[in-house]
Amino acid sequence: MSPAIELDGATRTYPGGVTALCDVSLQIYPGELMAIVGPSGSGKSTMLHLLGTLDRPTTGSVRVHGRDTGELSDRQVSALRARRIGFVFQRFHLTAGVPARDVVADGLLYAGVPLRQRRLRAERTLTGLGLGHRLRHRPHELSGGERQRVAIARAIVGAPSIVLADEPTGNLDTRSGDDVMDLLAGLNRTGTAIVVITHNPVLAARLPRRVELVDGRIVSDTRQSVPGGVR
Ligand code: ADP
Repeated sequence: MSPAIELDGATRTYPGGVTALCDVSLQIYPGELMAIVGPSGSGKSTMLHLLGTLDRPTTGSVRVHGRDTGELSDRQVSALRARRIGFVFQRFHLTAGVPARDVVADGLLYAGVPLRQRRLRAERTLTGLGLGHRLRHRPHELSGGERQRVAIARAIVGAPSIVLADEPTGNLDTRSGDDVMDLLAGLNRTGTAIVVITHNPVLAARLPRRVELVDGRIVSDTRQSVPGGVR
């Protein structure tokens, strides 16, 4: 099986000279469920940005389903990202005043799907995540857990093969956080690769694979069976 996303000797040096990621190689396979852990400043966000093709490495390569993104134009990379990768953020990133259905429908904007279809798929996805009764609610009318579920709906409405989540439970109480992790685990069982950045050791311990970063380098990459882990 070939990787869904692959970093090969990826280094990212920011203007000013900070090397946030140093010669990192990592393969993420279809259907994996993994955590990226490490202290603050260790390069986790930088790695997620490279994996998500939101940023390019200074040297080294990023391949998405075998395609070397270094050989693609920004426009081609955007198209590849829209088709393959979904994002979930700690602060949800929902536009104020926009109803849940439209937030999620916008997740298909760059996939070239017509508006009617976008709305229909958004409604189906929200309903599938238990938010069928919240389609017209705006972000401020939703709880934190519901907002994150809307954000997850937006990430997965285009049926990506990989979802990248940056501290997705960081702003939630334990119960809502567990619900969000259960949703992501359920999504993973349907074959979507899920990568979660987390500071939470309990959460990381429940995932089958854990990659640890220190000072921009991978210091461990462990796989474990988690029979009592995420449901
Ligand atoms: P983490 O997510 O683990 O906290 P980051 O990837 O955000 O780590 O940051 C790694 C290092 O790169 C830190 O030293 C940080 O200050 C630096 N850094 C991150 N983003 C930028 C940027 N846009 N410009 C300059 N330095 C940055």
